[in-house]
Amino acid sequence: MEQSTPTLLVIDDSPAIHRLLAVKLRDEGIEFIAALGGTEGIEIARNQKPSLILCDQNMPDMNGLEVVRALKSDPATMDIPLIMLSGEVATELKVKAFELGAMDFVPKPFDAAELRARIQSALRIDSLMKMLAQRAQIDGLTGLWNRARFNDALAAEVNQAERSGQTLSLALCDLDHFKKLNDTFGHQAGDAALVTFANKLQTAMRSYDVACRYGGEEFALILPGTEGDAAFVVCDRIRTSIEATSWSKYPGMAVTVSFGLTNSGLEGNTPEQWVAAADQMLYTAKENGRNRIELFSPERQDIRLAG
Ligand code: GH3
Ligand code: MG
Ligand code: MG
Repeated sequence: MEQSTPTLLVIDDSPAIHRLLAVKLRDEGIEFIAALGGTEGIEIARNQKPSLILCDQNMPDMNGLEVVRALKSDPATMDIPLIMLSGEVATELKVKAFELGAMDFVPKPFDAAELRARIQSALRIDSLMKMLAQRAQIDGLTGLWNRARFNDALAAEVNQAERSGQTLSLALCDLDHFKKLNDTFGHQAGDAALVTFANKLQTAMRSYDVACRYGGEEFALILPGTEGDAAFVVCDRIRTSIEATSWSKYPGMAVTVSFGLTNSGLEGNTPEQWVAAADQMLYTAKENGRNRIELFSPERQDIRLAG
């Protein structure tokens, strides 16, 4: 996720500044990328996603504020922290730069030690912000992605599947009689069951699958590029694995899970309709006796999609 060596894109029309920065920041463990103008800088930022951008204000092709405006309005580059460098130090210019989303403003000529400190500070703030954003999407008990992340991921995968024509599967899983399990063996046992099940999901999935805790004892698994039959096999492996688990700390406890599964065949449907279809199948799995998987097929007349 995080690059090991931070990359710094310097956008400045003066080659002398590039040379100076390269010398002054030599020992910072930073990889340099040079752009001699705004247009080139924006292009490089889009393609190479540097960790940090230093941008000059006065350049012949575009001024720094225009560069910041362009970078901050493009989803591909808006999250890259940016420090403005300028010989011009009018308050108005600084205020405008901050308003547009610059993280810091350093006057030229710069003091090398101060610039180094500001670069490191910007990198630190950025990595903290990314960590917080990620934590906000992680479920505290199981370490899986939470529902907020699930919603984003499903929307992206449904979109991608439609564009590429690739198949997609979605499974919703719900622990069976979980209220009774909590009542019988205690809440801690319930939590242990949730954590163990989450681990089984994580073990079963490939790097591009997305496993989430959807809610209390409900989980979701997004399987890009996976046909319904193959997804069924994956779910069945998880199902039998949790069923076969022995709980030495809680003698007599058994945990089973029901699955509702949908696959493409839902072309043209919204993420909400995908979830509704999987949820219908989960309901059917419960009705048909639990500890089983029901796979949606578009021919089924008993399924009506909401939304
Ligand atoms: P079904 O087989 O139909 O799904 O029955 P169920 O009992 O699993 O379903 P129900 O929705 O009635 O109960 C879900 C229970 O899950 C109730 C709630 O106390 C429990 N639960 C939800 N979140 C947690 C959690 O974080 N930890 C524990 N231990 N229990 C939880
Ligand atoms: Mg439930
Ligand atoms: Mg349940």
